[in-house]
Amino acid sequence: MATTTSPSLAQHAPPAVTREQIEATIRSLQPFERVMIRLLMLQYLDPTHDDVTFMAQERSEPNMKAGHKFGGFAVGTDRKIILPREWITAIEHKVQQYASQVRDHRKRLDLQISFMTDYLQGLERETQAIETLLITACGFDGASLEELRLQARQALITYALRKLAARAEKQEVEEDAYLKERLSLEYQAQHRRRDRFKKRLEQMLQERRVVMLSSLSDEHLATIWGIAQGPILSRRVKAIQRYVNALALTLNAPLQEGQFAAAVNAGLGSRMAGGNKNEGVGTKTLEIKEDLWSKTLQSLPPAPAPSESKPCEHDGGGKVLAGLLRSLATYLMSEEDESKLWTRTNQCLPCLLRLRTIYVVDETTESVIERVRARTMMPRKDEPQAPPVEDPEVAAAKLADLEERLRPFIGTNVLPVGAKTW
Ligand SMILES: [Zn+2]
Repeated sequence: MATTTSPSLAQHAPPAVTREQIEATIRSLQPFERVMIRLLMLQYLDPTHDDVTFMAQERSEPNMKAGHKFGGFAVGTDRKIILPREWITAIEHKVQQYASQVRDHRKRLDLQISFMTDYLQGLERETQAIETLLITACGFDGASLEELRLQARQALITYALRKLAARAEKQEVEEDAYLKERLSLEYQAQHRRRDRFKKRLEQMLQERRVVMLSSLSDEHLATIWGIAQGPILSRRVKAIQRYVNALALTLNAPLQEGQFAAAVNAGLGSRMAGGNKNEGVGTKTLEIKEDLWSKTLQSLPPAPAPSESKPCEHDGGGKVLAGLLRSLATYLMSEEDESKLWTRTNQCLPCLLRLRTIYVVDETTESVIERVRARTMMPRKDEPQAPPVEDPEVAAAKLADLEERLRPFIGTNVLPVGAKTW
């Protein structure tokens, strides 16, 4: 077993513990330990029917101690206590509620990360296309591109784009000059966008590392189980200790000095917000942990989170929101609008799913260049307005196209042209 954590080692995923080994280890534990471990691993594992029954039974104990012999429930022919159905369903409901919370959170993080990873790759292609056009159509060289990049942080891009649009509207700018300025501004905008999304991606990766290794707080566990926090904590400690020892046995890998404590601390240490609300996500990068508890969590795939797709009402909802999401996914949104929208969409599962579908993963270099060229050409005075059409779908498509081409001019706080019609 590895005892060092050199940087090169940290690059590799820890040697996996298999799901079978984990499940066999849990099965070998005492009932209360099994229940506790499965609750602590709720992001990955489902408590069994027996676990639920065990928790429900424990709820009945105070009654029994108080002398109400089997009050409210019956004894079966095999002398087993039969619990009222609603005691079981109450626990099942709590388990489900917490399971969907932790799993939704994890799913959201996974979606954010996969979207942003692809998004950054596409942004690279987009930036490359702009660069190509700056060189071929505007005569830029390496040094002038470098200059643009260096000034990107300070540039007042949105303001300059609006001003440029106004000058084009009044025919105060030549087509060549327009193209040059428009491409330069977009080039800088995309550089800044890359910095923002890289930072966001880093944060999400960090949050996911924390979430992967976290379990429910004692307070939440007590709510599910229906017993006090005091016994919860002592059971948590015992269950983790027993699990770690049993897993070491299953793996036939005796624990070295310090390894037992490291694993138990990992099991006790990371708890999700709720009981410990002030525990935010730190900025320090978590190193990959080698202890048996962390290793277990890193070896399990997340349990699937069922998602109901309900329409979003935030940011205007409906077509307005759809337009905003498309604008975001296609790198056209201004920085100001983007940061406003991002704070909500990035927490919203339906929005993330939609972004994922809008986003075009495979686009050839030529088609990206073509798209950028079409977008950045000086708009003509005789630009056709969306004509009144009977079919709303055709009209919406035409409008969306026009809206996209006019995006920097109309901004995103303004309703699209003719939006009131629908
Ligand atoms: Zn949403």
